[in-house]
Amino acid sequence: MSGRLTDRVALITGASRGIGAAVARRFAAEGAHVILVARTVGGLEELDDEIQALGGSATLVPLDLKDGPGIDRLGGAIAERWKRLDVLVGNAGLLGVLGPLAHLKADVWEDVIAVNLTANWRLVRSMDPLLRAAPAGRAIFVSSGVGSRPKAYWGAYAVSKAGLEMLARIYAAETVKTPVKVNLVDPGPTRTAMRAAAMPGEDPMTLPTPEDVAELFLELAVPEWTKTGEIVRFRDWQAERAAQA
Ligand code: NDP
Repeated sequence: MSGRLTDRVALITGASRGIGAAVARRFAAEGAHVILVARTVGGLEELDDEIQALGGSATLVPLDLKDGPGIDRLGGAIAERWKRLDVLVGNAGLLGVLGPLAHLKADVWEDVIAVNLTANWRLVRSMDPLLRAAPAGRAIFVSSGVGSRPKAYWGAYAVSKAGLEMLARIYAAETVKTPVKVNLVDPGPTRTAMRAAAMPGEDPMTLPTPEDVAELFLELAVPEWTKTGEIVRFRDWQAERAAQA
């Protein structure tokens, strides 16, 4: 397949549904080989079928991102097979339970921090040599408006995203003299299972779809994207594009 990501290898976490699945489909349609990470094998297999039907190719990696050594093994497997990683999308995320900080259960806090923050650090640690080995390595992490806005009752989730923003920006600073570019996407409210869990009263049809948001990920993944250390908010990006059109 030919396209804007022809012959690129892209690893996408949280690819079994929602935004991650849409990004994987979009990248595959542009010619990337996509490595799909999530726990739900059924979701990964369905996506694999769709990607094959498009003429694309995927590698499925059923993995719980709380398994740090599992992430390291994945890095080793990518090194062996491709010797580089062109695009890393750290998208997998967990909402946890919304409520006052003082009422949060310890296991909820630990899970949210483990998946939303620690797993992304572990991915950076394992994938850094592979991103540097690529001609135009791109890392994209997925934050949220609450990563920089203290919103009551969004406790562990908001704290994890604030940490993730700092992680990505520090990684951007550490790679500033290399071809690697590291950026964050804030998708804003998007029509997914996570959003429906957070806002059960909302009409999902009023929200942008994961496919809409996937267009922004593509922009940040291609070699032509040269900024690093940025947080790109989908709504702003969409408004800018509309103004230019
Ligand atoms: P979904 O709940 O639809 O998808 C979350 C994905 O993360 C799933 O593929 C899930 O796979 C994966 N995941 C969760 N826990 C683990 C784990 N332990 N190991 C491996 N994979 C895991 O969410 P969205 O698509 O809405 O969210 C994607 C990202 O966008 C998240 O980081 C979220 O915080 C962010 N975001 C979303 C917004 C929205 O409105 N939807 C707004 C702002 C930010 P599985 O369960 O199969 O493991």
